[in-house]
Amino acid sequence: MGAMDLRHAVARMAALNAGQGFRDMPHEETACDSDETRLRIRQVVMGALCETLARSRLPPMTVMGFLAEAVGSVYRELADAHDGEDACTCGWRPTPADDVEALQAAMAARAGCRCHRGLLHVPAAGRA
Ligand SMILES: [Zn+2]
Repeated sequence: MGAMDLRHAVARMAALNAGQGFRDMPHEETACDSDETRLRIRQVVMGALCETLARSRLPPMTVMGFLAEAVGSVYRELADAHDGEDACTCGWRPTPADDVEALQAAMAARAGCRCHRGLLHVPAAGRA
């Protein structure tokens, strides 16, 4: 986990909080680097987890619960940005019941396997 990745994520969140909004971020579905994207997100989450465990000394499952809550609230914010009059125009329309079920299934599938270890050896593009 590079500190750079976390800084990029923090800069992005700062842009969001400044009102830039999800709709200004291109997010068309493409057939590009989904493994690299998974790896990058995993690195950001792992960095936040390790930093929080080291700094707070909270129990691991407490911190994991915070991560799960964060994913849920990020989903809510993303869904809200895709609903209503001023919605993002990308075409995605949230279906919260189905979406949350899909997210829960994805988490359960990953928690039950050790397949992510292979991802650790995928070189991340564009890293200094
Ligand atoms: Zn959108």
